[in-house]
Amino acid sequence: MNDAFEGGALDLPGWRHVYSGKVRDLYEPDLPALGGAHPLGDVVLVVASDRVSAYDHVLRPGIPDKGVVLTQLSLWWFEQLADLVPHHVVSVEASAEPFDGLVPDVVAGRAMICRRLEMYPVECVARGYLTGSGLAEYQASGSVTGIALPAGLVDGSRLPEPIFTPATKAELGEHDENVPFSAVVETVGERAAATLRDLTLAVYARAESIARERGVILADTKFEFGVAAGADPADPGALGVVLGDEVLTPDSSRFWPADEWEPGHAQPSFDKQFVRDWLTSPVSGWDRAADTPPPALPADVVARTRERYLEAYERLTGTALR
Ligand code: ATP
Ligand code: MG
Repeated sequence: MNDAFEGGALDLPGWRHVYSGKVRDLYEPDLPALGGAHPLGDVVLVVASDRVSAYDHVLRPGIPDKGVVLTQLSLWWFEQLADLVPHHVVSVEASAEPFDGLVPDVVAGRAMICRRLEMYPVECVARGYLTGSGLAEYQASGSVTGIALPAGLVDGSRLPEPIFTPATKAELGEHDENVPFSAVVETVGERAAATLRDLTLAVYARAESIARERGVILADTKFEFGVAAGADPADPGALGVVLGDEVLTPDSSRFWPADEWEPGHAQPSFDKQFVRDWLTSPVSGWDRAADTPPPALPADVVARTRERYLEAYERLTGTALR
């Protein structure tokens, strides 16, 4: 596998860079170079880099192969969920030919050609366990996004039933903000809001039970949905809503080893826990409250984080990626 793929946009023949988030880069077909149309229709190329973010900062160096893990795990999940919800992946076929519109060789394994969707501006979060921003809100108000919860819950508690706790999508560098369901209704309309909620909870339930069979707790997760061009976002119909973005990866989800679950404190998790722990330890010398960029990650933190991502893939899919 490659060295860390941590830079920004690449020069990909046949594709034009249009957007970069903290972790992923989005390209659209370079139509003139392709002779006016893309062979697969209205598509985008989503490339997962090896960049790792924590506390809203992108860190250096990247985690080698992280982007491959994110993409391969998403693809595996899309397949597990295909009978519940349509997904946006059109092709992951790679090609050495520069201008044929397939996935350029240099990003093969970490890229997917996807139907271009109009994304709903809602982070569709499902929680089966209480932690993170959900826990903070519960401690302050006894509820999460307006959903009242029983008294006495602690960090890592299992909720009586999974809940839909939407958030607004923040601009780069800003925090997402938890919002009540009524805010989603205002943004996308009643029918679409109900569909997003029901799909989020249905997909969470399926994924939670698949993960549990493999000894992994899916504590919470975030989905992004969209509609294909031509569909009415306010009334998309049962099959009009498409699952986009990445799904059920360690970047969008909290995965906990089930045999180590013990409510009352932070749980060990299959993600960038080592990065967060190191950054907030005195050893890093970084002050989270100050507005300075974090220091470079030491090699052992990078190596252990890489192992953790690979382990998540292997535990969930039952196959090796190396
Ligand atoms: P953050 O860094 O906070 O995650 P982000 O979500 O904007 O910011 P990425 O997740 O790195 O950044 O980038 C993926 C982007 O691609 C998102 O904005 C997502 O909504 C968008 N996206 C995902 N799938 C599709 C699709 N099929 N069509 C159009 N846009 C898509
Ligand atoms: Mg994102």
